[in-house]
Parts: sequence; structure tokens; C-alpha cells
Amino acid sequence: MLRKTVQIVTAVLTNSYYKGFLNGTIYKGKSKFFCVPGFNCYSCPGALGSCPIGAFQAVVNSAQYLISFYLLGFFLIVGTLLGRFVCGWLCPFGLFQEWIYKIPFKKIHLPHRYDFLKHSKYLFLLIFVFFIPAFISNDWGVGEPAFCKYICPAGTLESGIPLLYANESLRASAGALFNWKLAILLFVVVLSTKIYRFFCKYMCPLGAVYALFNKVSYYRIQVDRKICTECGNCINACKMDVIPYENPNSPECIRCGACKEACPAKALSMGFNIPIRKTNFKRF
Ligand code: SF4
Ligand code: SF4
Repeated sequence: MLRKTVQIVTAVLTNSYYKGFLNGTIYKGKSKFFCVPGFNCYSCPGALGSCPIGAFQAVVNSAQYLISFYLLGFFLIVGTLLGRFVCGWLCPFGLFQEWIYKIPFKKIHLPHRYDFLKHSKYLFLLIFVFFIPAFISNDWGVGEPAFCKYICPAGTLESGIPLLYANESLRASAGALFNWKLAILLFVVVLSTKIYRFFCKYMCPLGAVYALFNKVSYYRIQVDRKICTECGNCINACKMDVIPYENPNSPECIRCGACKEACPAKALSMGFNIPIRKTNFKRF
């Protein structure tokens, strides 16, 4: 309940430029110089901040190194402090996927032998967020924002659809690229009704960045091995396919806390690296 409240409050606060939804314009005030930690499109009519993945693509081949350093510092600080806590608690698109997963369609749980497919999100990060924007410039001389332009379903949902709805001239100019993006959004939505947080698991470049920090991030899960009975309740509770008592700081863990709630022995604790009771850590 606390997590859901934080997710909703974060989504509302970061998209509270309500006028934009009414007149189909994008807020361009000073707060847009700052990035929000989660996946929230810069061009969403209500957005008060920038998406770090969108901003990174825009500056990765820029001569203005200060901006690039700002973004690298942003990823380092947020990643080191929180890791994928951002995905589980602060990302509006994660919340959206959790809602549509509630639609009562038959669910798909891929066996662990297919976990390697989750590495695809690192490919999205490397190819569309780093390599293409770093080596291909668009007409304005800045890196081609390939992920935003060709892939991002959050952008289509949060900015493409509302802007087209509110702005007639944009509606008239929407072409094949918009239809392609709409198809990707539909693909993600359909699969997210069957696979919990499909986009986060397989496609999200921001989740991939924070996943790299999960093993070292200050916010973490600890297992008290003296009282864990290896009953497996935590495995059944985890929708991100983590084995919490074996690998509590897996790159896939979004710190949702479901495993902790499900543990009858209270062997799991979650927080800023402050052990609740004396622990005997296993290293991974
Ligand atoms: S639910 Fe608790 S006791 Fe059971 S395996 Fe997981 S951490 Fe151990
Ligand atoms: S259930 Fe536990 S291990 Fe799984 S994602 Fe949530 S916090 Fe992480």
C-alpha cells in the first residue's frame, strides 16, 4: 500500500503541468533542466522534468561535456543510492504496467532457463541509447535520439497520444513513424497483461542502467541466513523471477518488498544497508 501510494504521488507530481493536457503544449520551464529518476517522457504535456534516457541521447555526442558529466553523475548518484528501487517505487511507466497486469488474462511465467532473454534490455541501452546517438547526428547536429524516436512506448503513451489528441495540426502530420510507435506500444501493452512488467524485464534501458548498480547500491535486501529455512515462499512471491534468499541483490530486483512480506521467518530486511538484526551474509 505504501509503495502504491508513493508510485501514484510520484507520477502525479512529475506530471502536474495540467494546462499542457488541455492545450496540447509542452512545459518548458526551468525544472526541465533537471531529470526525474524514473521513465517519464520529456514531451509528456504534464511533465515538469526530463527523462534521463532522453537527455542522455541528446548530449552523448555533444561538445558540451559539462551536460554529459551532469547526466553521468546523475546515474552514478541515483544508481549508487537506490539502484532499481527507482523502478519499483518511482517510475510512472512501471506503475502503468502493474495496472495493466491486473487485467485478468492468462499469465505467462517463463522458466528460469529463459532468464538470459532479460539481457536484451542491455542491448537496447547500448544500441539505441549509446551507439546510434553517439555516432549519428540529426539535422540539428545533436545525437539522433534513437530510443525515443523509434522505440519508447512510454513516450507514445505519455506524449504522442495526448499531444495528438489535444493538437489538431500535430494530428494531421502524424505519419508512418507514429504508427510504428503505436504498434510497439500495443505490443508492450499486450505482453504486459501476460508477463509482469514485460518492458522493465526485457526492454527498458533505464532499468538496465539501474540494474548495473543493484549489487552495490546502498538500498538493498539482506538475508538472515541463520533463520531462513529455504521454504521458498519468497520465490513464489517474486514476480520479477528473482530467488530472493539466494540472490537478494539480483539486477532484476525492483525492491518491491513482496518477498519480505511473504517470508514467514522474517529473514529478509530491506533498507539503506542497515541490518535489522545480526546477519550472516552469503556473498554472490
Ligand atoms: S521466505 Fe524467508 S524463510 Fe522462506 S526461503 Fe525466503 S527468505 Fe528463507
Ligand atoms: S519480490 Fe523481493 S526479490 Fe522480487 S523484485 Fe520484489 S523485492 Fe526484489
